[in-house]
Amino acid sequence: MRALCTQTLAATPEGIAQAARLLSAGALVALPTETVYGLAGDARNPDAVAGIFAAKGRPQHNPLIVHLADLDQALALAEIPAQGLALARAFWPGPLTLVAPLRAGHGLAPAVTAGLDSVALRLPAHPAARALLNAFGGPIAAPSANPSGRISPTTAAHVLAGLDGRIAAVLDGGACAVGLESSIVGFDGVTALLLREGGISRDALEAVLGARLGRDGSGKITAPGQLAAHYAPRAALRLDARAPEPQEVWIGFGPDCKGAELSLSLTGDLEEAAARLFAVLHAADAKGRAIAVAPVPERGLGTAINDRLRRAAAPKGA
Ligand code: AMP
Ligand code: MG
Repeated sequence: MRALCTQTLAATPEGIAQAARLLSAGALVALPTETVYGLAGDARNPDAVAGIFAAKGRPQHNPLIVHLADLDQALALAEIPAQGLALARAFWPGPLTLVAPLRAGHGLAPAVTAGLDSVALRLPAHPAARALLNAFGGPIAAPSANPSGRISPTTAAHVLAGLDGRIAAVLDGGACAVGLESSIVGFDGVTALLLREGGISRDALEAVLGARLGRDGSGKITAPGQLAAHYAPRAALRLDARAPEPQEVWIGFGPDCKGAELSLSLTGDLEEAAARLFAVLHAADAKGRAIAVAPVPERGLGTAINDRLRRAAAPKGA
């Protein structure tokens, strides 16, 4: 499917106005966010939403995150519990997604939520995303702007490498600052559950809640899209590699990985490693050799980085 001539739009007032016009006409536009680039469509338009699933080759049971300009728009769509509001006040706009029960009359296309009675909501912080959301004035459904299962895009060039010809435009807002997808929090009654590790550490979320987060699976809520094999490079990927095998591209972390061809962070900084993770995986994959990644510590953003690396290493088709 390569029917369209994908335009690259600058993140200027003109580029943002054009992106908003395209969305209003039901077309798909990749937009920069602080986490990764999103593949945006009008969340109320069933054809646009169907187009998102088709362009990505995404399974229909994997619901989309709805992006909004402000808290009032979020409250119009879902009943966000008190703990969710506390998290929203602390982290929105930012890399936090809340899953909450849908309100009657929400107006979203049913495929957005994969037919569930809950919806995933986020207010992104990237200035170009915020400007586009304000110009468009409605809810935008946006999964990551990559073919399903492949490495997430953190630059406009990554988007074009995967989706050129399948979408109307990409709004170029530079490299994504956080680089990992949002943390997803859902609620089982009064218990907040961490459904996906992401750009805000568990510690930071728990500090705001004043309580421990439950894990996905501890209650009845599950995040249906948490597939074992995801974020996958074409090449095989080996974890916890303290040294490379012959021919492997070794991705280092920290100052001890002397001679690594690529590094997530030479100084061992986890925020830098998160921001660089997908770009480094894209660069390693372009070399066409097997990939080995040095150990990354299980603290702070390291747990989300390791979650993505484990899925990238999982046997394909799992
Ligand atoms: P992404 O794949 O990064 O677009 O993130 C979307 C993910 O959010 C999905 O894969 C689900 O895991 C999760 N999600 C979205 N909507 C819901 C929902 N209503 N209930 C539970 N999880 C959801
Ligand atoms: Mg994705």
